[in-house]
Amino acid sequence: MRIIYEPNEMQEIAKKYREWNKKIGFVPTMGYLHEGHLSLVRQAKQENDVVFVSIFVNPTQFAPNEDLDKYPRDIKRDEELLRKEGVDFLFYPTVDNMYPDGFQTYVNVEELTKVLEGASRPTHFKGVTTVVLKLFNITKPHRAYFGQKDAQQLIVIKRMVEDLNVDIDIVGMPIVREEDGLAMSSRNKYLNEKDRKEAVCLYQSLQKAKELIESGIDDTNTIKTEMKKTIESYKIPKIDYININSLTTLEELNKIKKNDTLISLAVFVGKTRLIDNLWI
Ligand code: AMP
Repeated sequence: MRIIYEPNEMQEIAKKYREWNKKIGFVPTMGYLHEGHLSLVRQAKQENDVVFVSIFVNPTQFAPNEDLDKYPRDIKRDEELLRKEGVDFLFYPTVDNMYPDGFQTYVNVEELTKVLEGASRPTHFKGVTTVVLKLFNITKPHRAYFGQKDAQQLIVIKRMVEDLNVDIDIVGMPIVREEDGLAMSSRNKYLNEKDRKEAVCLYQSLQKAKELIESGIDDTNTIKTEMKKTIESYKIPKIDYININSLTTLEELNKIKKNDTLISLAVFVGKTRLIDNLWI
């Protein structure tokens, strides 16, 4: 595996692979890798001739009060994991290389970013779409892989790609979980022992929603109330939001719509804000 720091160099390499008619699979990450990330890498390996992974903790998607400075990092361990998976290139740029002096162009997906994570983190998605489009232009992939863990991110990126005629297949991959159901996340590192035990409440509340839907209940208020009760049966967690939306428009739903429903929530477990979701 080669590690590339310079956007121009990465772009030249991508151009070469394109000239050689090789299919490029790309997995963007912020590092501190876990099995969730690696599931994307494995899928990319299966479907392409060459795999590029990026690790970049993107400052423009963090608000000033968020965890940019303490976001967990372990590049040596990440390198090892990616080598073992047979990744061909790791793109690991610096902030200055990605945002040199004079940088002033941003991409904004307007409506889809006003709700859910966008309502709680108003500047977040503008940073995400901007960096993802930059990374796409640098790595020139045929396919790019994203986790359903960040459901709204996946929906927003699909919208951006369609709206701006970006010729890349966006592949969404299922959420990888710990044994007790907690969705894997780099931010789980912030949880102390007590928090970690209670963090399972997000998954438990989604399981509750699933049970209710399977028993024929489709009223979203009833489902949200039951999810809230599940979380409130724990001591530490504090709900940021529980929402049930259309997967395509993200508008709030009164009734569950088969194949077009996203149940999502954000919960503070101690100081750590965790998200999880369920696609119906
Ligand atoms: P991050 O490093 O958190 O920006 O995540 C990089 C990519 O990995 C994103 O597309 C995430 O949705 C995906 N991802 C993160 N956690 C998981 C998980 N538990 N299961 C599947 N994909 C994940």
